Amino acid sequence: MSRTVQIWGDRAVFPVNACVHCMRPSTRDVEIVKVKGYVVRRVGVPFCDECIALREAKSPLQVRFERVAVVNSILLAMAVGMWVLVSISSEPAFRSDRVEVWGLLLGLLVAMIVFGVMYLVVQPWSRRFRSAETKAALRAVTIKAFDWDTTTLEFANQEYAERFAQVNRAPQEGPEPGNQLEKE
Ligand SMILES: [Zn+2]
Repeated sequence: MSRTVQIWGDRAVFPVNACVHCMRPSTRDVEIVKVKGYVVRRVGVPFCDECIALREAKSPLQVRFERVAVVNSILLAMAVGMWVLVSISSEPAFRSDRVEVWGLLLGLLVAMIVFGVMYLVVQPWSRRFRSAETKAALRAVTIKAFDWDTTTLEFANQEYAERFAQVNRAPQEGPEPGNQLEKE
């Protein structure tokens, strides 16, 4: 069961030398990010090399899916670009050398836009094919919510969350920092 811990601002103090996912010695900080409208909250979180690799790993299925998707995106982009080029240059009103150059540029532009849109569709889709281990490492800690004064972090590891809450007891008055809220 996951636990949430609220801290002041974005200055999180992590239990010394422990990876958030496996609790073995950490090697470096990984920035976790949450975007709310135009506001971005970033918190550096310690992970070990193995868990960092796990977080970034692509499953064989994900790699295969991305490869197929890239080939299909290129084919689709080329087909749409060609169609734009052919329909412009076959228009009798536009028949001139200059129009053909513009038709080619427009065809290329449309092909690039199609490819870009496909990329934006494919990337989130391919994340569904992440392995269970990668998903677990990514869920180890996330920023659940934040506002001007506080950040709420959600930990998958309850033991870690408790240690984290202990070292983050802030002295100020306010909505009890370090307060643990059970996840509904
Ligand atoms: Zn680790």
